[in-house]
Amino acid sequence: MRVALGSVITVSVLGSVACGSDEAAPLGDATATVTHYDYRFDLDTRAAHTTVTATLDTPGNCVTLPFSAEAPDAATLLVDGAPPTEATAGAGTLKLCGAGRAAGSTITLDVDSTVALATLDDSQVGYSIRMDANQNPFHYLVSWVGGCDRFGPCDDRPDQFATYTFHVTHPATLMVKCSGTITEVSPTETSCDFGFPGGPTYSTFGIAAYPRTAWLATDKGMWGSAQVTVFDRPETGTAAGIDAAYHAGFVSWMESTFGPYPYGAELRILVAPTYWSGFEHPGNIVLDDGLKKTLGSLYANALAHTLDHEIAHQWAGDQTTLAATHDFVWKEAMAEYLAFVYEDTSNPIVGRATANAWKQYSAQAAFFPVPGELPPLFDYYGDVYGPGPMVLFRQLEALTSRDQVIAALKTLLGQPRALSVDDVVAALATSTGLDLGPYAAAWIHGTGAPELARVQLTLTPTTLRVQQTTGLARRCKFHVAVKGAAETEVHLVEVDTFRNGIDQTLTLPALAFTPIATDLDPARECLVYAAPSAREVPHMEGWPHRNPWLSNRGSTSPTP
Ligand SMILES: [Zn+2]
Repeated sequence: MRVALGSVITVSVLGSVACGSDEAAPLGDATATVTHYDYRFDLDTRAAHTTVTATLDTPGNCVTLPFSAEAPDAATLLVDGAPPTEATAGAGTLKLCGAGRAAGSTITLDVDSTVALATLDDSQVGYSIRMDANQNPFHYLVSWVGGCDRFGPCDDRPDQFATYTFHVTHPATLMVKCSGTITEVSPTETSCDFGFPGGPTYSTFGIAAYPRTAWLATDKGMWGSAQVTVFDRPETGTAAGIDAAYHAGFVSWMESTFGPYPYGAELRILVAPTYWSGFEHPGNIVLDDGLKKTLGSLYANALAHTLDHEIAHQWAGDQTTLAATHDFVWKEAMAEYLAFVYEDTSNPIVGRATANAWKQYSAQAAFFPVPGELPPLFDYYGDVYGPGPMVLFRQLEALTSRDQVIAALKTLLGQPRALSVDDVVAALATSTGLDLGPYAAAWIHGTGAPELARVQLTLTPTTLRVQQTTGLARRCKFHVAVKGAAETEVHLVEVDTFRNGIDQTLTLPALAFTPIATDLDPARECLVYAAPSAREVPHMEGWPHRNPWLSNRGSTSPTP
């Protein structure tokens, strides 16, 4: 019997099974920590079988897990290998009961269900089949934050880690990739065994499949301790466009700074038609197939930047993950910032382009980085990519030093744990010595669209007056370039509104030229904009959508 989601399956309770055999067996709702998901999925029929292994944190005989898949099969439900004494599906959960158990004991739950061929809005969160430009079908199962229950019973709290085994049945024409060690059991069955300690559901519970003829392997050599292989169609130019030496340097820097690459000896990079520019599945990064040929990106090199962003997530987001959904900003901010630091060290022009991109994205944000409205993540996540790295890291390195910011990150990353935004801010406060209470209140937490910090600059031959006119609590440190008539006539004036207030008249030194013009924040150190117009923040050419992490496909094309 198959029972549709939303209805209630009730199996009559057999007293002897529930408690009759053991008078001391605890009854009632237990809480449990899932330790392992064994997940069977057929790409064509979308039939799924989940075996959840969990440890009881509190005693009881019933466990409830988030569950949003379709058609749980009441006839095949199992609790510890036996039919449940009670089973209830509905309201996004599945409750299964069996024999009473003590805290600390292990329980297994078996559930057959069906995964909908459906996604969250126009994204690929869920399960989808999307054609590339050559009509190759890309099959993609994506949890994202809080979404693994779309595929079966799954504890979708962001701070939960588990191990996973995926058994995927598929047409022989398809190649299947998922996180963990991959075994091609047969031409039509592939398994992925993920046993690492830092596997959050949002990224690890995922499956990608593409025609074997479209995923040609290119060995990119060793990047740090990881052997890297790119799977790509030659037409995208991605494999050829990835500079192995550059990214090997990035991985080596990440390892020397934050600890070993967390996911074994192998890193796969899968190129496919995706909604987002990239996704950080552990050891199994997916990149959009348009990155190499993207025009109009504000990043100097969209492919290199995106790849380093996803690599940084292996440490920041995957191994060290989110405490809660609305902590989302820190993982994106850290991935952006770490990619930027490496860019800036390698070529400051590239780094400046990234900081400039952040500043332009930030001018359009409709929510604070941690929005007080607590909106659904999908409604605001696109607003974190600019303000996140600027507010959490770039502005603080300008106020103190990059070494102090990196030192804070070293105390946070490199181990399986869950972090809140407040944890990140606390580490930064300790490392920088700054009182970040008012700073966080002004820049990070709030409701509505943040009011931009705007300043009026007034130049005389001997002074520069800086008056902040809006966003008055948003203080930071930046420079103003005072310019003469010739291009080479430039003098940088340091302005610190964090420490020195929002109305300052600064005396210029004796200059060898007559100052006639100013350039606000040429190094993109702060989210400070010119008043009264926003002419220093031109419209984002090529980025009509305010979410910068969409691929061009995600920005412009309807979902097929
Ligand atoms: Zn990211």
